[in-house]
Amino acid sequence: MKIRLKGVPIVVSAPSGAGKTTLCRLIAQKYKGISYSVSATTRPPRRNEKNAIDYFFLSEEEFKRWIKKGNLIEWAKVHKYYYGTPKKTFEETLKKGYNIVMDIDVQGGINIKKLFPYGIYMFLLTKNVDILKKRLTKRMTDTKKSIKERIKNARKEMQSINEYDYIVINDTIKKTLDTISAILIAEGCLIERNSLIIKTFKKNL
Ligand code: 5GP
Repeated sequence: MKIRLKGVPIVVSAPSGAGKTTLCRLIAQKYKGISYSVSATTRPPRRNEKNAIDYFFLSEEEFKRWIKKGNLIEWAKVHKYYYGTPKKTFEETLKKGYNIVMDIDVQGGINIKKLFPYGIYMFLLTKNVDILKKRLTKRMTDTKKSIKERIKNARKEMQSINEYDYIVINDTIKKTLDTISAILIAEGCLIERNSLIIKTFKKNL
């Protein structure tokens, strides 16, 4: 399916465990015009995570160097680690007319919104808190302490939900992808995103 979006940042934030990484990857797979933004982090890789594919895994020293050099369009400290979006790829992707889907935390989402108010901002949630807790426990890649930390952070992140345009409940992957597709299709049909086609149509009428 085609979406009528060009050069638009698509931000997906959610409490940890709501399933956003999988979804963001699937969105990028489903749409040719959307690429996935690979972040940099100081968090150690989890099992199966690969450098430059899942994240650019950096030492704290390297990360701070990236900040200093202006290599990141946004960055934030989340659950004790640093996370940030590489600026060059981000800018080049948008410049080429591709859209970029970003799995970033609320602080990052708010910062990107300040820079790109025309972006699309979605907040993903599970149906209830129990499901979120179960998912975090099931993942088993996090220690008990870090799970608690993530729940605490979720409480804080929920306070910024009004900064976002859409709430998406992560049900089955298929249903959730359908909801996101509907949002992207509708966003692509907004009058304000179609000034060129409108102008051309008026000129040739
Ligand atoms: P995780 O360690 O579970 O992969 O990610 C932890 C949190 O960091 C998630 O909320 C994720 O969205 C966020 N995150 C990942 N990459 C970035 C980034 O580039 N910038 C910001 N601000 N947050 C990020």
